[in-house]
Amino acid sequence: MLDELIGTDRLHEACGVFGIYGHANAANVVYYGLHSLQHRGQESAGIVAADHGRFNVHKGMGLVTEVFINGNGELSGDVAIGHVMYANQKSTVIEAQPLVFKYRGGTIALAQNGALINAPMIRRRLEQQGSIFQTNSDTEVIAHLIARSRYDDLELALQEALAEIKGAYALLVLGEDRLIACLDPNGLRPLALGRIGDSYCFASETCAFDLIGADFLRHVQPGEMIVISQNRIRSVQVAEEKPALCSFEFIYFARPDSNLTGTMSVHQIRKQLGKQLAAEKPVEADLVLGVPDSSLSAASGYGEALGIPFEMGLVKNRYVGRTFIRPNRETRTRDVKLKLSVVQKVVEGKDVVMVDDSLIRGTTSQRIVRLLRDAGVKSVHVRICSPPVVYPCFYGIDISSRDELIVAQKTIEQIRMFISADSLEFLSVDGLVRAITGGPDLSSGGSGLCLACFSGKYPVPIDQQS
Ligand code: AMP
Ligand code: SF4
Repeated sequence: MLDELIGTDRLHEACGVFGIYGHANAANVVYYGLHSLQHRGQESAGIVAADHGRFNVHKGMGLVTEVFINGNGELSGDVAIGHVMYANQKSTVIEAQPLVFKYRGGTIALAQNGALINAPMIRRRLEQQGSIFQTNSDTEVIAHLIARSRYDDLELALQEALAEIKGAYALLVLGEDRLIACLDPNGLRPLALGRIGDSYCFASETCAFDLIGADFLRHVQPGEMIVISQNRIRSVQVAEEKPALCSFEFIYFARPDSNLTGTMSVHQIRKQLGKQLAAEKPVEADLVLGVPDSSLSAASGYGEALGIPFEMGLVKNRYVGRTFIRPNRETRTRDVKLKLSVVQKVVEGKDVVMVDDSLIRGTTSQRIVRLLRDAGVKSVHVRICSPPVVYPCFYGIDISSRDELIVAQKTIEQIRMFISADSLEFLSVDGLVRAITGGPDLSSGGSGLCLACFSGKYPVPIDQQS
């Protein structure tokens, strides 16, 4: 099973979804919503709007601005869903979501954020029974299950499909006359419910509501299905809720102005992470730097807690694409310089703390330490605002193979030497939970967080095949 999940050519998707029901310019609202979710995926973007049973589709590879070159308002319909994709395998426009299907119940469109651990097994079974798949996407597996259901009614067919799939999914389903949102029983990925005027909307993150002027109502609950039709909203608890929201959403993935828990913004929680790390692993230094953008909040918290000035010593070139690219050895130094530069006058001759949100392969820290040394720092202490990542993620975040995880291969001292830092320290798992939840034991089942990539305790056991 593990082998089946690791190193396959399946797409591991951690994406953004947005949907709205009952709005005269539904596609246009989705277009703006997707802009706010662009950080969740830059591979492809798409919108599907339903206009009295007719589905209008536009999608393509690239950023929202690249796919919708003339802006958007062209797709008629008062209900629409959209998707931005982050795939760690090369995807093509065929995989770009939302995916649209015709089956005996009519036309449906699906947009999903997550990864299903039993999708390969279900797919193989369906293929043996004669199904033909068009894409590598887990989302298509859900569509096949809906189409094969014994129920004609979309809601019941969807519930039957959900009972079979396992893993992480924040799923939007657009039917001819309704919009349905579903979250997996662990609520591994975030999904929020909002309202603009008389229209209900859903978004992966609340920052999308702020842009379109919608009010945030609440988070969709783990195991919940929300159905909006004829301007009525209904909630059905389709599975027992066992909350385990991905802690990496707080550490790295979500936008700082989003709200994932209902109390604090992601920025405030990241600041807490920095303060907690300062309490656990203090160091004497002249200044604290954060790796832009995802570590700035945590770095400011670290500095504030220790009374060390938080300075802008690293500047990011905003026009260079994604970070997680895997450049070859020859282009490595140039690529990091292309992306980040050091403000030499700030760091020269100083004892510096460099705070990053996470360390996966160690390459980012290694390259930044080198840049800082080239700029003449006296010493550089690396502080990582998350615990060591020892286990792969099977729920959609691109941490896919143990071979690539430096902590699974080397001791902390060996990593310190590899990145040439004067010291290297990580946040503890307890500290992470405390900073996010305000206490170690918030919900009945534990922290309410998924911590599997740090602890190896997977909320959905990875040997669950059916
Ligand atoms: P690495 O260079 O492999 O150690 O990766 C760590 C860096 O990648 C950190 O600076 C993070 O901000 C960033 N990062 C962490 N998780 C992810 C992810 N899933 N996708 C893209 N970048 C990430
Ligand atoms: Fe998030 Fe890690 Fe859990 Fe994956 S294993 S869902 S990255 S906390």
